[in-house]
Formats: sequence, structure tokens, C-alpha cells
Amino acid sequence: MINIFKNIDSLVQISNDNSKFKTKENMRNICEIKDGAIIFNEKILWAGKTEDLGKALESIDYDYMVVEEMRGKTVLPGFVDPHTHLIFGGDRSAEFARRLEGATYVDIAEEGGGIQSTVRATRAASLEDLIKNGKKLLTNAIKHGTVAFEIKSGYGLTTDSELKSLEAIKELRKQFPVHISSTFLGAHDFPPEYKDKRDEYVDLICNEMLPLVAKNNLADYCDAFVDKGYYTVEQGEKIFLRAKELGLKIKMHADELADVNAASLAAKVGAISADHLLFVSDAGIEAMKQSGTVGTLLPGTSFFIRMPHANARKIIDSGAITALSTDCNPGSSFTENMQMILWLATINLKMTAEEALVASTLNSAHAIEQSDKLGSIEEGKEASFIILDVPSYKELFYHFGYNHVEKVFIKGKEF
Ligand SMILES: [Zn+2]
Repeated sequence: MINIFKNIDSLVQISNDNSKFKTKENMRNICEIKDGAIIFNEKILWAGKTEDLGKALESIDYDYMVVEEMRGKTVLPGFVDPHTHLIFGGDRSAEFARRLEGATYVDIAEEGGGIQSTVRATRAASLEDLIKNGKKLLTNAIKHGTVAFEIKSGYGLTTDSELKSLEAIKELRKQFPVHISSTFLGAHDFPPEYKDKRDEYVDLICNEMLPLVAKNNLADYCDAFVDKGYYTVEQGEKIFLRAKELGLKIKMHADELADVNAASLAAKVGAISADHLLFVSDAGIEAMKQSGTVGTLLPGTSFFIRMPHANARKIIDSGAITALSTDCNPGSSFTENMQMILWLATINLKMTAEEALVASTLNSAHAIEQSDKLGSIEEGKEASFIILDVPSYKELFYHFGYNHVEKVFIKGKEF
């Protein structure tokens, strides 16, 4: 059986030449077809203009077909969210309310809040609790149009609780039809018991955690928070070299709080992506461009904790590969909705609508090495796309604040 959607007012392919990613002015070319059509089963078999459908069908084998009219609709590749922290215990809504009343980070930490409260709750949570919470967020995210994810551990900070978090991600992989990349982030923060002996914790990561993660095949990537007050460039490099030795690839939290040359380290160790980049230097951007490291921008975080914004214009205009992500986490960006990120990227990061679309589909798929399967609507890719109840993709940006996604298809099946 094949499915046909025809008379799609706005069919946004993103790419039609099997590009793995787009940079610079090419990010403004989203390959929109007006009055478009697609033929698909679990994969996209053809995409083009409705008037060319008859001819396209001549070269496709099928027993029967189901045809649907899509007038007034926009079809986009599903969003790819390449940086999330969906696995955690506890609830920090009361702490957020305190922040709105004017409480500072220090006040909140003294009250027992902040990341350490999530660490306590994640350690105490059962594997089932972590899966249950992750399932809820993942389901919501898919309903808002996301069809592939990266999920990190990083709220346990002990060997057992980090492995438990990665087991929860593994279980979500089994239960959901979407692609999920798994990342070990034991170097998210320092656990309270290693507050004054940070290098010893780095050794624990290198000598105990990473070998177990690798042996049990629990992660695709290793990440570390290389920033002012967190992991130094030297500590980060030590962790990354060990991870690479064990067969893991690298992703990185880089230069979010200050320029500590984390982006240059990302380029040096061949990281797939360096994320945040609020304070990245020109040299850091150039190094990333040369190494092909994706710069993933997380405007939800700047919005939610009132931080400055990353200089997306400079990063895009430099020619570095630029992606977008939610950074969904309980402390600094509690949203699983990629549409929210598109609104923030256009208004706060000064990206065009087209750049934001490329950054949240094809380029974000590249940030988890999945752009050969996902991120565009073209022949041979997964039929993982979304239908919006608007006649133009432009309306998605203009009319903000509600869910435009009417249907989500993952590998050809409606979710
Ligand atoms: Zn993060």
C-alpha cells in the first residue's frame, strides 16, 4: 500500500538534493512547493507538484493507494530536538514561583532548590518513575511536532543513578517509534559529595562510569558542561579523550556562562556538536566551522532564566552549521515544544523563519548524525513529517502561542 497526500498548499521539503545540512544563505532556501504532493509508505517515495503526480506513479510499484486532499495545509519534516534532559525526578515549580517573587539563585540554593534538588530526587526515583516522567514529556513533544530526540543523563551524578537514567532512555527507545540518541552526561555538575575534590570525580567518570556505559552499550555520546564554575577545559578534555577511547562520540555544553574556549575544545576533540554558545569567541566559531562541529542554540534557556541571547547572526553568517533545540530540563528551560523554540529563535535570536526551519529539522538531525534519514521530505528518507492546519509555513511563525500541529506521522504511521 502507498499513501498519497495531494494539493498541499505549502509542502516544505527543506532539501531536495540530499544535503546533510545547510549553512549561511543556503539556510534561507527551504525548497517550498506550492500545491505539492507526496507519495509515501514508511519512507518518502516521491515529493513534487500535484500536477506531476500521475507521471510519478508510473514508476512506483503498489497494490493499492489511499489518497488524501490537503488543501489549506502545510506539510513540514518533523522537528528534531538534539539536546534534551528529559530524564529526571522531582518537581521545581515551587522554586520557579520563588524566582518570580525575586528570590536569587543563592536564596534558592539555601532553601535546598536548584540542580541539587533534582539530583536528590533523581537518585531517589525508581527506574519506573524516571520512565513515566520521560514518557509524558516525550509524548507531549511529539504532539507538538518532534519526531527525533537526543536525551541525556546527568541528574544522578553517581554511577548507579547515571546508569539508571541511561536505562530509562533505553526503555523509552523501545516504547516509542521515534529515533532517540542517548548521551551520558555524568559531567553535568559536580555531586555534593565531591564538592571539594573535583578531580576525583573526573577520575570516577573516566575509570568507572564511562567504562560501564560503554560496556553496556548505554550511550551514543558523552557530554560535559565545560564552563565557568563547572568543568575546566582540561577536565573536559580528559573525559572526552577517555570517552573516545571507549568508542563514544562527543557532544558538549559550551561557553554558556562565559567564554572559556570550550567551543575550540569541541572542535579539537571532533565533537559532533557544541551547544549553548552564548559567549563563544570569534576564534571558537571559526574552529567549529573548520571542524564541522554543529553549533546548537538553545533560546529557551536564555528566555527562561533571563540570560543574554547567543549571537545566532554571527554564527550563521560565519558559515558554521547551526541547529536549534529545546534544552528541555527542569531548571533552565522547561519546555518540550519545538514550536516555542522557533518563535524564540526568530524574535530573540533574529533568525529568519526559513533559517529557523532548517535549524530545527535538517541541521538538528545532523547534530545527532541522522540527517541521512530525517530532517527533510525527499525520496528515500523516513516518512516522519507533520501536518499544520495553515496554508503557509509563514503562519506558524506569525501566529504564536498555540499548537499548529494537526497530525504527526512517524515512519509513515500517524502517531
Ligand atoms: Zn543542556
